[in-house]
Amino acid sequence: MRKLFALLGMLVLVLPVLFGASRAANVTDLHWVTRNDAPIPFVRMVFSLSSPVHATASISASGTSTTLVLKNATLTGVPTSIVMDDGIAKSATLSQQGSDTVVKIETPKAIDVEDLKVFTLKKDTVNNKPYRMVVDIQKKGVAPRDNYYGKKPATPVAEKAPARVAEAKATPTRVTEAKPAQKAADKGAAKSVAKSAKPAKATPKQPVVLPTVPEKPKPQVVNYRTTGGIKGKVIVLDPGHGGSDPGAIGPTGLQEKQVTLPIAEYLKSILEAKGAKVILTRTTDVDVYGPHASGVDELQARVNVANGNQADAFISIHINSFSNPNVGGIATYYFDESDQSKKLATAVQGQIAEHSGFNGDRGIQPGNLYVLRHSLMPSILVELGFISNPKEEGHLKESETQKAFARELAKGLELYFGG
Ligand SMILES: [Zn+2]
Repeated sequence: MRKLFALLGMLVLVLPVLFGASRAANVTDLHWVTRNDAPIPFVRMVFSLSSPVHATASISASGTSTTLVLKNATLTGVPTSIVMDDGIAKSATLSQQGSDTVVKIETPKAIDVEDLKVFTLKKDTVNNKPYRMVVDIQKKGVAPRDNYYGKKPATPVAEKAPARVAEAKATPTRVTEAKPAQKAADKGAAKSVAKSAKPAKATPKQPVVLPTVPEKPKPQVVNYRTTGGIKGKVIVLDPGHGGSDPGAIGPTGLQEKQVTLPIAEYLKSILEAKGAKVILTRTTDVDVYGPHASGVDELQARVNVANGNQADAFISIHINSFSNPNVGGIATYYFDESDQSKKLATAVQGQIAEHSGFNGDRGIQPGNLYVLRHSLMPSILVELGFISNPKEEGHLKESETQKAFARELAKGLELYFGG
């Protein structure tokens, strides 16, 4: 028996480790969405919970069935069967097995541990969001789009742990592993939930919200200006992610959306002091289009802000992430059919590239990104370091770093518009 437990201990990894573990939770809601805007498309399922749970995830030997067990969790009117994206995750069934909720997700292709990500989001009292467990399943058999983020980050060292996978393969069930980053994030979440200690009320159940069909934007023309100095120019800043979408998450739990917004705010005040008119696509921690909007809706909503305001330039601010924590550095992407965008990218990258404490210049890269392709003025997307790199994550947390990036971005914009 002890031996069996030892074996299980090696293979089955309990994901969120939380205080008050034996407290019963209700599963109050379930949303899902396909994110085709990511370098590798994925299906995201978001389970709303009345309080934190222990959860384990495992993948069947065939690879096409993933099982999540939410310990001591009761289904409260959530649909017990949903049909999803048939290219990535076909369906999910939810069942009550004793005191546990069991979720079975069927995928059309065999997936592996690296295709599955399970993480938690703490209760968000500001935006009235409950504690959530998020399951991401990446599309199998597609390479990250080279033309999406430009070149793929270099991989100087092997980053996977083959030993563990091999070991798991020898058993009938492969089991996913919570990455240290997620564990750290979970611990943080656990603390804040534990602190607020009030027994959470189950939120009223809602139907599953399916992605809506994006409204076609009306064709329009933006008569953007490219010279004559920054004074009077209309600049739209897009703090990447927000609301239900945290963006990438660093090893200590720092979320991309928590970094992109303050940088945009600092940049706004610098540019306004120089006489520019600045509009942010979001000014608080919210989704621009709406919670759990499909990726395209969300991105189009950001583009609409730029097009609708006849912007002279559009800057989307992001932080990069990669599976290898050693990868770092700063890059700027532009839509490769726009010479002005390339000019803007060059001017901005020249200012931000050598930011101290970061892994240096990854250059300007053509990127066929939605927000760049659909905005009608010179537009760029900056990736200010890698949140997955512990050193860069540490710097990104500091407001001094955020302010310095804002100053450099402003300088790049000034150079672009000329004197
Ligand atoms: Zn991003």
